[in-house]
Amino acid sequence: MYKGYTEKILRIDLTTQKVTTESTSQDLARRFIGGTGYAGRLLYHEVPKGIDSLGPENKLYFCTGPATGTVWPTAGRMAVVSKSPLTGIWAESHVGGHLGPEIKYAGYDFIIIEGQAEKPTVLSIVDEKIEFHSGTPYWGQKTLKACKELRKDLKQQHGHVALIGPGGENLVKYSAIMVDGARAAGRTGLGAVMGSKNLKAIVVRGTGSVEVADPQWFKVLWEEGHQRVQENPQALEMRKYGTPILVATKQSIGELPTYNHREGVYEGWERISAETFHDNYYHTTRACATCRLACKKAFKVDEGIYKGLITEGPEYEGVMAMGSNVGIDDIPTILQTQHLCNEYGLDVISAGCTAAFLMELAEQDLLSEEEQRELDIRWGNGEALVQLMHAIAERKGLGNLAAEGSHRIAKKKGTAAEPYDMTVKGMEISGQDGRAHRSMALGHAVSARGADHLRNLVTMDQLAYKDVAAERFGEDKLPEICDPYVETHKALATVVTEKVYTIRDSLIVCWYTCSWPPIFWVEDFAPLLVAVTGEPAFDSVEEMMHIGARLVTLKRCFNVREGITRQDDRLPRRFTHDPFPSGPSRGQTVDLEPMLDEYYKLYGWDVKTGIPSYNILQTLGLEDIAKDLKSQGVLPS
Ligand code: SF4
Repeated sequence: MYKGYTEKILRIDLTTQKVTTESTSQDLARRFIGGTGYAGRLLYHEVPKGIDSLGPENKLYFCTGPATGTVWPTAGRMAVVSKSPLTGIWAESHVGGHLGPEIKYAGYDFIIIEGQAEKPTVLSIVDEKIEFHSGTPYWGQKTLKACKELRKDLKQQHGHVALIGPGGENLVKYSAIMVDGARAAGRTGLGAVMGSKNLKAIVVRGTGSVEVADPQWFKVLWEEGHQRVQENPQALEMRKYGTPILVATKQSIGELPTYNHREGVYEGWERISAETFHDNYYHTTRACATCRLACKKAFKVDEGIYKGLITEGPEYEGVMAMGSNVGIDDIPTILQTQHLCNEYGLDVISAGCTAAFLMELAEQDLLSEEEQRELDIRWGNGEALVQLMHAIAERKGLGNLAAEGSHRIAKKKGTAAEPYDMTVKGMEISGQDGRAHRSMALGHAVSARGADHLRNLVTMDQLAYKDVAAERFGEDKLPEICDPYVETHKALATVVTEKVYTIRDSLIVCWYTCSWPPIFWVEDFAPLLVAVTGEPAFDSVEEMMHIGARLVTLKRCFNVREGITRQDDRLPRRFTHDPFPSGPSRGQTVDLEPMLDEYYKLYGWDVKTGIPSYNILQTLGLEDIAKDLKSQGVLPS
């Protein structure tokens, strides 16, 4: 077996309390690398078509990659893969901190959770020792308290904890799995999957290490890697301010989601800018394992009704979701709502964007009288937003409706509400807007987990990295690639980016330093993989991109089996029909169809249906999946 892997997968069946281990397959590692790629292959074959995401047949894959647990910059992250209760399709969410390395040090490449416990349960994993504990004492507890008590009760002060809060227990469709109380595998509702299994927490402690194939070469690579991060001016800025630095950037290009994406500029943006956060509320800086970029910021409130509050985050996405998109420019309110999302275990993007959707419904008089009476949910009402977060986690009143997410609410409310439903495939759109960024329009439409900014976000076209764009996509295409308002070549940029990101997510390393700022790319991942694993075939960029295409197509196939076609690769009507009313992107709308045509062609998928053909699947080494989809009659003729 290659180096970089622990060679072991831990499988825990909560129904029977049976614990087994199996060997990590060298063949699958060669073809799918690790992380979400390898887990995707397992998910496809182990989780049958059409099962209930919240039933015992669904599984949770806690994933590491070959880089996890090494000292490569940003290799402290991990991912969780499953079938989503929010969207009913592919679910994937990444999280930082120290849990990923800890899983490797405990001796596992993956931890797979199956079945459904009869009663609330906590799992303790200390190297080879696996124990089941009652989760009842912790059920109902918020995440920070539960995390603290679990470490104390299990005598694992240095253990790292994946756990859910009341959001996951109450099956909020976009509840998160929290790590050590403050980091979130936020998107796609994985907390509800854990809640449906009656699994409150997994506490992990490991005493092993990760061996790499060529320590000398690896040392050269990681030292150079850290130096490149430390010398990068944008990385230094991010180290100072964290990702809220994007508030000013988005405002300046007219892409700061405001009032449920009705506008792309926000009049109160300076009051929620990174500088305002930093100068008035900065508390401390934190980082994931091995990361010197250290983008995580904790903030503190010194006066007002939230005096004494200290919370980690928000990221840019949280500032958007609980700030501009709901018309709130009061930082303490944003910090309080972020804190509640951490404590209850809710995805801050979906929670805030569902609130924005409800505010627009209220404005359009599309909420019932009872709903209106219950909570004065209108733009800028911070108190109501805070109350809504409590109500969502507890599934009370309007919160019970909001806990289902915008798309289900829109369906329930009927056609009048649909124009305000800002989701793709049922997942709330993150802090971008395709009208100001055409490649992102395509990215949101085609991403495997629904509206997703992390799987294919091209930053070159918008943030003026012309030299990097020329290197990645060719000098001849530069004028169109670097124009965020044209559709030409955006499919090419999206496809290249998507392939590289899926390799990143299989390795697993952080989104930052790969996408933005653009420090590492496939040319860096190829030698890194060789030095870590010892497999020389990874040294070819061409081969890596072939693997990237395989991984993207694999996720597509999981969704195709669940019924996804081109008809589902859609954007909200607002993006394609309602021009931005003001700001630098005024008048812009998205012409999606030509980009979709090009996107499918570049992957070799059928343009009419968006489904990969048998031949393409064969070429990508996915013949088993081709046979399965063929037997189900879903492949194009
Ligand atoms: S850049 Fe931020 S999120 Fe990424 S590994 Fe570093 S601290 Fe973690």
